[in-house]
Amino acid sequence: MVSIGQTCLDSKCREKILEDAAVSDSKSDFHLRFMGEDVLTQKAEEVGEVTPEIEKLADDMLSLMYEEEGCGLAAPQIGAPLRLVVIDCDYDPSSQTKKNPYVLINPEIVELSDETAKDSEGCLSFPGLSVEIERPVGVVVEAEDLEGNVLRYEVEGSLLARCLQHEIDHLNGVTMLDHLGPIARMKAISTVREKMQGDAAAGAANGAEGETATHSAERTEKSTEEK
Ligand SMILES: [Zn+2]
Repeated sequence: MVSIGQTCLDSKCREKILEDAAVSDSKSDFHLRFMGEDVLTQKAEEVGEVTPEIEKLADDMLSLMYEEEGCGLAAPQIGAPLRLVVIDCDYDPSSQTKKNPYVLINPEIVELSDETAKDSEGCLSFPGLSVEIERPVGVVVEAEDLEGNVLRYEVEGSLLARCLQHEIDHLNGVTMLDHLGPIARMKAISTVREKMQGDAAAGAANGAEGETATHSAERTEKSTEEK
């Protein structure tokens, strides 16, 4: 169990997580991680105690998620290898509906339905990519919230059911690519590469590198669902 800044006994481990998570006052340290970065393919550590740093991390993740118009974000996606996810599948930025944010700490899938369905998904870490992924229609997830309450989500046939599975995948180092066959996977990788290269070139031309990539990514994410 690892808790940012407090109870991790292994100082090296703590330093690494602090560094990777960029849990500092500098907001600019938080940024989206994209395809190819190791943190996206590694299993994340359990969150121990909910420290002020964890609360801040969740807060920053929610801000980033809304800013990018995604409906979910997992901590590894901003470089923090911790089992923390934020989700809001109800908020629609185009109509400015009421926000309904969930913060899930150490979420676990405890049940999956036998019935599956295919639907398209996008991901803020894979700009420009939208792929059909088959997943169980129903899911039961248990998680803690920031107050230490254990919550149980029983969801079926909704965007939330898919989003929960997608985000928890991220905590296990699993991305959308891992749900694809070899040919579709290669195609997906080149789609994302082209998109990122195009965005980087456009960003450089505008003298605002990175901005463009971030903004286009969010659109993909939202149009399909979680992140
Ligand atoms: Zn994702």
